Amino acid sequence: MHLQTRPLIVVVSGPSGVGKGTVVRKLVQADPATLLSVSVTTRAPRPQEIDGVDYHFISPDRFQAMRKGHELVEWAEVYRGGGTAGEFYGTPLQPVEEALANGRDVILEIEVQGAKQVKQWAQDPVLVFVLPPSWEELERRLTQRNTEGPQKVLQRLETAQVEFRRLWDYDYFLVNDTIEQTTVELEAIVEAERHRVRRIVSWPQERMNHD
Ligand code: 5GP
Repeated sequence: MHLQTRPLIVVVSGPSGVGKGTVVRKLVQADPATLLSVSVTTRAPRPQEIDGVDYHFISPDRFQAMRKGHELVEWAEVYRGGGTAGEFYGTPLQPVEEALANGRDVILEIEVQGAKQVKQWAQDPVLVFVLPPSWEELERRLTQRNTEGPQKVLQRLETAQVEFRRLWDYDYFLVNDTIEQTTVELEAIVEAERHRVRRIVSWPQERMNHD
């Protein structure tokens, strides 16, 4: 029998434009023992986004059916305010359960309301918050990304301000100065969490009794 540990659920949050998506994708590409959960969303795809890869793009009706049918680990409505309705985002339950059952670590790139629900749902999840080097830098990155109009950029900055207050619900923070350094640091967090004694579920007792 080998020493076995419970797979991880790693939540990565941070303001839109901070670069967390790139960091998370780099982590998952380098490590086949991890699965990056693909969320469902009601928002429209951006030009480069691929259905089934970046998100599963679904209708509001389908989203509500999934929510009511308990097919989501967590969900949130994002970017309310200014009289505009928000868009819905959620983590499909089945692929997460399947990955965990196969011993794979699951990475969820989700916002703060969803992270809170994961904390209630999962046993001992790891919560990581990605911060920008400065507020000015976040503004610059969001504007340069140029995927949204100025109104959407403003909305995202407002949301970021609200999200920063939830930093204290998290276990780790990363400051995304460069993608390379932040990826190395996230990998280090994941590796350390894999080695927590409390995650051991089976143990080769015959040969290594601890008393
Ligand atoms: P975007 O529209 O920029 O892709 O994502 C907007 C926000 O929704 C980001 O903070 C992103 O992390 C978050 N998000 C993406 N998928 C999910 C999800 O499944 N659940 C929750 N709660 N948030 C999500």
